[in-house]
Amino acid sequence: MKSDKLGINSLLIHSGEVDDAFGSATVPIYQTSTFKFKSADHGAQCFSGETKGYIYTRIANPTINALEEAVAAIEKGFGGIATSSGMGAVTTVYAAYLSQGQHIVSHNAVYGPARGIMETIFARFGVECTYIDATDIENVRAAIRENTKLIYLETPANPTMGITDISAVCAIAKEKGIPVCVDNTFCSPYLQNPLELGADVALHSMTKFINGHADVVAGMLVTKDEKNYNLLRSTMVNLGFNMDPHQAYLALRGLKTLGIRVERAQQNAEKVAVYLENHPKVEWVKYPGLASHPQFELAKKQMRGPGTMISFEVKGGLNAGKIVMDNVHLSLLAVSLGGVESLIQHPASMTHSKLSKEKRQEAGITDGLIRFSIGIEDVEDIIADLDQALNLV
Ligand SMILES: *Cc1c(COP(=O)(O)O)cnc(C)c1O
Repeated sequence: MKSDKLGINSLLIHSGEVDDAFGSATVPIYQTSTFKFKSADHGAQCFSGETKGYIYTRIANPTINALEEAVAAIEKGFGGIATSSGMGAVTTVYAAYLSQGQHIVSHNAVYGPARGIMETIFARFGVECTYIDATDIENVRAAIRENTKLIYLETPANPTMGITDISAVCAIAKEKGIPVCVDNTFCSPYLQNPLELGADVALHSMTKFINGHADVVAGMLVTKDEKNYNLLRSTMVNLGFNMDPHQAYLALRGLKTLGIRVERAQQNAEKVAVYLENHPKVEWVKYPGLASHPQFELAKKQMRGPGTMISFEVKGGLNAGKIVMDNVHLSLLAVSLGGVESLIQHPASMTHSKLSKEKRQEAGITDGLIRFSIGIEDVEDIIADLDQALNLV
């Protein structure tokens, strides 16, 4: 059934099937750590790669492979590498491309721990990093050095919603032979395909949109070509960032409804953004679907829709933000995003609290910034809930 001609929703439902003896409509959970060889010769052939056979679940597993194939199909890549978490995917990328004395260029508002492990753990191994505002392409060009071996982007960025021109960065990187990895978590493959825009690797925290039901932590890397696939796969396997088969089964189930979930949540988000922009207690709203967004035109060019994530600043800073968060009842006060339920959080005290205040300011993460992940509830209820909370400010 698999075909490049299928639309994305058909691919979501029909990619990643396995051959199983009973014709199961879903991908079975191969909950096993190891696989029996038929003979010594068969074992030897599996190890040499002569025969495609499963050996050990850290290396490969049929349930996990089905998920990898399905995500690679919708991300339009050569192959997928599933990981135990999004951070497992980030660590795999850093470890695969960077050695002592080499340098990474990244956006100053990337996912907090993605920057945190670079500035603490990888710095101890002699990797140098430069964090810049990548929404200005000239900053990217200026930050590249002789020893730059990776450009790591996240767009839209977390939580400022700043958008980087993926094609423009990839054009600069290509001139210098530097691989580009794009964290595509905020869009999901449904709204943006970085590999088609020139990136070498697309990264996902599948904990978010791809699984979508707030019940799994998982990650995925999709590469444009075989060379990057082999490098990242062997790094992941040897570092032990593999996923569990049961985790893969749940992510596969979530993946099937990615399209309708994103469509519905996006419709809601467009209405919530307009509501917030017109509210007297709101200082500003950052949403790629509003003409007031600084990269509104770029968003339209690069993304198939404005998405479901909104950042906004309540007048009155930290305290006002706290009042809103303590008084919403429908939306959960929780980190994470991209699920069926609306989630609201405060980056300065939560996801980005490990960054110093100066670094937060530099990255545009103000004290009163609230990040809102819009779910698929009835939008009237989301707005009514927000309205009563804002009116208490
Ligand atoms: C959540 C997240 C991650 C990390 O993923 P985990 O699954 O929590 O390890 C990385 N990047 C972005 C943009 C995220 O939102």
